[in-house]
Amino acid sequence: MSIIRYAKNTFSKSAWCAYNAYRQGAHFRRRLAETERRLNGSREEILQFQWNRVCRMLKHAYETTTYYRELFDSLRIRPEAIQRPSDLLQIPTLEKSTVRVRLGELVSNTYPKSQLKRNATGGSSGTPLVFYQDNGYWNRRNLSVYYFDRWAGWDFGERQLIIWGFPANHSKAGRAKEQLNSYWRNHWWFNGFNTSEAKMVNLSKKMERWRPQTILAYASSLYQFAQCLHCNGLTPDWGLKGIISSAEMLYPHYRELAEQVFQTPVHNRYGSRETGLIAMECSAGRMHINCNDIYLEIDSDEPYTKPGEIIITHLNNYGMPFVRYRIGDVGVLSNEICPCGNRTPILGDLLGRTTATFRSKDGRWIHGGYFTQQFYGIKTVSQFQLIQESYDLCKLKLAVDDAFTDDTLGWIVHKIKDALGADVHVETDFVEKIPKPPSGKIAYTISKVTAKERR
Ligand SMILES: [Zn+2]
Repeated sequence: MSIIRYAKNTFSKSAWCAYNAYRQGAHFRRRLAETERRLNGSREEILQFQWNRVCRMLKHAYETTTYYRELFDSLRIRPEAIQRPSDLLQIPTLEKSTVRVRLGELVSNTYPKSQLKRNATGGSSGTPLVFYQDNGYWNRRNLSVYYFDRWAGWDFGERQLIIWGFPANHSKAGRAKEQLNSYWRNHWWFNGFNTSEAKMVNLSKKMERWRPQTILAYASSLYQFAQCLHCNGLTPDWGLKGIISSAEMLYPHYRELAEQVFQTPVHNRYGSRETGLIAMECSAGRMHINCNDIYLEIDSDEPYTKPGEIIITHLNNYGMPFVRYRIGDVGVLSNEICPCGNRTPILGDLLGRTTATFRSKDGRWIHGGYFTQQFYGIKTVSQFQLIQESYDLCKLKLAVDDAFTDDTLGWIVHKIKDALGADVHVETDFVEKIPKPPSGKIAYTISKVTAKERR
């Protein structure tokens, strides 16, 4: 490492220290060490801690919010009576539609507005959802992020390339603040929402000099970047320690190409704006559940074998409790003890957004990624979008070039029918381009069937 880079890393590490001391007080180091100890503990200790936090949150929700007070009273539930995980099933799940309608009643009356931060989802699968988080939530969330990101090689002060979205209405002052933050944090931001091949090639040249130690990126941006370098015959040799892929589904072909191009492991990080970090992939390729911040259930009668919707109880957002919140993703648990040595429970498979998980008539769930994987390799198809309108009807949008043939279309339709049933009607629409939604993230597979069932 050059002396300049070493000096900058050392400066950034100190700046991180000062930042955390400012936000979390002089006890920051002790809190971080406690978080590490807790998440490195035995399975029993981890589950006990998590359950104690669930009970504390239920009591808080009942005592300080109108919504939960009314809900529990109407069902004659006392929070103290919830003593084991199976008792939780008495509490109905919290739906996004309820959060929209009863937002004010979900906010705890112990927090003045000044201590709450308004936040909202990106709206990639519909209208953005508004919610609140208390100041302490962010501090506790950061502790978990610091812990889990280290699994991917990140550490305080080290150089990180971030390929993320920039909000379109970012003001000048906002941009200046971001630049200052990036400088002391040792981050290099690249706008993944507004990019081109030329911009990515240029970025790669800059990274040759800057030598990032880790990359944090949207899964699709990471794939796009890897594809661009691959097609241009560029082979990065930046001394990367790892890559964190987040915010979107990390499809197997995304991972494969990124690992081949960057010559370093990709770690999948699963999270959401409402709940923070939910699970992180370890060196052994398993998704460990963030028991420090959340309690995760699968809405399935056999959660270890039959996928179901993911339900989250947040353990730290006292400003607006999320109890049994239906987040809109589908997954399955694993009862495996991970070979990496960490004893937090494992999310066996993450099938993706509920809206990207297809349902066949005979009751099977089909991962949206199945279709992406089948179709992404077809050279004559530049973009596609598959929408399951009902059990019997799928709409397929295709942007193709002149070499596209009826045989290829026949093969695509055959693959769809193969997965969803021979009697499914596939309506094809040839388009110039699939338009990007405001979030910047195109949903390649959308199922309206699963979304309807959820309502
Ligand atoms: Zn592991």
